[in-house]
Amino acid sequence: MNVLVVGGAGYIGSHAVRLLIAAGHHVWVYDNLSRGHRQAVPAGLLIKGELSDRSKVVQTLRENQIDAVMHFAAFALVNESVTDPALYYRNNVIAALDLLEAMREADVKKIVFSSTTATYGQPDVVPIPEETPQCPINPYGFTKLVVEQALADYAAAYGFAYAALRYFNAAGAHPDGTIGEDHDPESHLIPIVLQVALGQRDKITIFGNDYNTKDGTCVRDYIHIDDLGDAHLRALEKLTPGTGICVNLGTGQGTSVREIVEACREVTGHPIPEIIGPRRAGDPDELIADARRAKEVLGWSPRYTDVQSIVETAWRWHQSHPDGYT
Ligand code: UDP
Repeated sequence: MNVLVVGGAGYIGSHAVRLLIAAGHHVWVYDNLSRGHRQAVPAGLLIKGELSDRSKVVQTLRENQIDAVMHFAAFALVNESVTDPALYYRNNVIAALDLLEAMREADVKKIVFSSTTATYGQPDVVPIPEETPQCPINPYGFTKLVVEQALADYAAAYGFAYAALRYFNAAGAHPDGTIGEDHDPESHLIPIVLQVALGQRDKITIFGNDYNTKDGTCVRDYIHIDDLGDAHLRALEKLTPGTGICVNLGTGQGTSVREIVEACREVTGHPIPEIIGPRRAGDPDELIADARRAKEVLGWSPRYTDVQSIVETAWRWHQSHPDGYT
């Protein structure tokens, strides 16, 4: 297929681009580089532009005879969405609707969309099945839910074929160490712990040890970035006009913050000092995927099933790029 990867210069998008190319698809990346990295995109594939530039998006879709779009271009920090919701509604909702309108104009109706576990809010049942009511508790989750709903409506009314993939905690890096996670400022657990191992920070602060979990620290479902990408490729093949595929992408296994820190100690050989800090606002005790539907619908299952192997790939990236993409 001819695939336009919107946000393909970002962490998850750039890994999907590599997998798409390896699978023989023709790929173009559309990105405004506001948070993505030019160096994460293979030479010659980047089209720099805004989603609000309708004529440019339509032209890109038409000129390259695009069959399907993967949409990764969104902001994804819960705290930031609380302090600056306008940024999130503009970037995640308005820009996504701009993209859908350009797709309608160019008659491209296949889309794989990055959704999130944040659409579930504080779920009562863990592991979380897709039937769980989607009741977000922060603007980030709401922005993603709005787009999921728009996709369902566009499918019903205009014949769009979509997949909404609800990510749990994306982690790790391409195994060859050439692309990886680089946020500024960094807020995610594994990169921060590995920055301690690199000597760039003196300790890791664990945000709360009084949660109702196995060791008191928050439990999350860490899924390797290439397993996420693999699910996108499978979703692409399953897109059906007039309908949508909504699936969780997680391993189904919960790992605590303490267990992540311990895995990082084992992988790096560094003692990684830790302190316990206050809870971070809005962190639920446990978020673990019920990942059965993705297996059934996409024939997908994660290849990285233990956090140590995920951390190993992240460590390779951080060691070879201690300052990220520079
Ligand atoms: N966390 C932590 N210290 C940090 C960063 C994160 O204890 O410096 C915890 C955070 O409270 C959460 C888990 O690590 O329970 C994963 O956080 P991250 O920001 O990586 O992903 P999120 O779950 O917010 O998407």
